[in-house]
Amino acid sequence: MLISMLKETGALLEGHFLLSSGKHSDVYIQCAKLLMYPERAEKAIGLIVDKLKGVDFDIVVGPAIGGIIVSYEIGRQAGKPSIFVERENGNMRLRRGFTIEKGQKVLIAEDVVTTGKSSYEAIKVVEELGGEVVGIACLVDRSKEKIMYPVYYGVKIEANIYDSENCSLCKMNRSIVKPGSR
Ligand SMILES: [Zn+2]
Repeated sequence: MLISMLKETGALLEGHFLLSSGKHSDVYIQCAKLLMYPERAEKAIGLIVDKLKGVDFDIVVGPAIGGIIVSYEIGRQAGKPSIFVERENGNMRLRRGFTIEKGQKVLIAEDVVTTGKSSYEAIKVVEELGGEVVGIACLVDRSKEKIMYPVYYGVKIEANIYDSENCSLCKMNRSIVKPGSR
């Protein structure tokens, strides 16, 4: 169901894409295209909240910008506060008077988890303040490597990612699209 919601909103595209990293992929995901519809966002994130039954957390933290809406909606549905970390001079930190208290159980929320890099940056901020991270919630889990925390995902999507000089899709002469440029 989430897959079809992602496809019908254009949040999930299949083809041959040039990613911002310079790599090529057969899948492109832009969750903002689904989250722009509040009713769909409510339903999609409700699927994650269902999986969080039995998970004890006090607060949700979404790395800006991608995690903010997911974090907010999980917080709304679960009745928990939602805050975000954001980048300042390259480093993730809590601003705006947001705080984490020692021993607070924290759920990290993301739109997409790929390498877990932004989640790990958020986790570092939380743990330095004494918070205890209980897991990562995300709409789409496209990770290949093992993520070091429990991941509660809406849907898991396998994508093939290629180096530009060794791309199967290039070899098939499939024309490449740079998403967001159209
Ligand atoms: Zn290619």
